[in-house]
Amino acid sequence: MDYFQYQDGVLRCEETDLREIAEKFGTPLYVYSRRTLLDHFNRFRDAFSKLNPTVCFSIKSCSNLAILKLLRDAGSSFDVVSGGELQRALEIGADPASIAFAGVGKTDAEIAHALNIPRTANNAASVGWFNVESEAELDNIATIAEQKGKRATIALRINPDVDPKTHEYTTTGKRETKFGIDIERAPRIFSEFSKRKSLDLAGIHLHIGSPVNTIEPYVQSVSRALKLIDTLRASGHAIRAINIGGGFGAHYDGGEAPPASAYAQQLAPLLTGKNLQVHLEPGRSIAANAGILLTKALYTKSSGQKNYIIADAAITELLRPALYGAFHFAWPIAPTSGLIPPDRRKDLKLSGTTLVDIVGPVCESGDFLAKDRWLPPVTRGDLIAIFSAGAYGMSMSSHYNSRCKPAEVLIDGATPTLIRRRETYEDLVAAERIPLQE
Ligand SMILES: *Cc1c(COP(=O)(O)O)cnc(C)c1O
Repeated sequence: MDYFQYQDGVLRCEETDLREIAEKFGTPLYVYSRRTLLDHFNRFRDAFSKLNPTVCFSIKSCSNLAILKLLRDAGSSFDVVSGGELQRALEIGADPASIAFAGVGKTDAEIAHALNIPRTANNAASVGWFNVESEAELDNIATIAEQKGKRATIALRINPDVDPKTHEYTTTGKRETKFGIDIERAPRIFSEFSKRKSLDLAGIHLHIGSPVNTIEPYVQSVSRALKLIDTLRASGHAIRAINIGGGFGAHYDGGEAPPASAYAQQLAPLLTGKNLQVHLEPGRSIAANAGILLTKALYTKSSGQKNYIIADAAITELLRPALYGAFHFAWPIAPTSGLIPPDRRKDLKLSGTTLVDIVGPVCESGDFLAKDRWLPPVTRGDLIAIFSAGAYGMSMSSHYNSRCKPAEVLIDGATPTLIRRRETYEDLVAAERIPLQE
């Protein structure tokens, strides 16, 4: 699963003692395992290898340049959802042709920027693909591309109207969401927009939600998309690619997420022999279990019936619990009681533990990292690991309460590398200006 394991009573990342890492780099701190990232990426690609897919790592899940570079060197392409993410992909030398630009609200400036990246040989559009979410956007991309004398390669994001049975905030493939175009309308849009010379309408894109821990919703949505592709091809549209998005599960609470091979086993037969280039956009399934958030207990206190650990990490470092009610397993990295969790699951209740909430210092009641957990005794200064925080952790961090963003460290065996320094108070105000007064 990952390379964060207890050994002799202490949590290690690969061959590295995390107490030393906390000592050296301070807390709160994001720690990533290189081996885990590569292992997850390779497993994912190998699972789908029969389809020879383009694997576009979803930058929004974990956007540090060092991690993107690592994945690029392993053969990853990228899925970006903003001009900023596009910049990150270019920064690490990703091939523009391998980039898919998604997102419901691309601005004119972002579209222009994405079209302007110089690409070798032909005069086609610059990013590999625009994943387009509405007719208005399609029209806008066509216009901007015309003005620039470019041709944009388009995958139309369709809404297959399936329920992925995930959190309401991360459901994207049902009809009542802001994402994609109703599948019934796709043929009309293709015939209307295929007249625009600045568009190369060549793909269908899907992304049904995240995390989707069952395979059936993918099977359903891919089947619907393939039927649509048949219809489109029958009316003369040359569809080359299908992008089935991301949302593949990760391990959070002990409820098993299917491995990549299980998704592939059911999806590959559907997609084989269709003469389609297959694109996949995993984020979470690669990065979530490859990172933890290390935090220090600042204080403990009891209030009413409740016991609290006040940690030095907060919603500013990890928003998921507050935003989605997400579960992240938490445990001291070197429990004085010697009590080590046999596994990382939601309902773990060992003898010698007490019920606590882990909360942060931010001035919001919603500022918690873990609620109602049976943890071994924790005292001031103890270090706690918040697991499965590699995806949508640091990338969702904020400066709220004028807190400096934490540092990030990438571990390779016994070697830690600082991949983002801790922010300073100067960083916090660097973009601000006080108007001159008389
Ligand atoms: C967020 C997103 C992904 C990645 O989702 P994960 O759950 O991290 O795999 C892929 N594609 C699109 C279009 C997205 O918005």
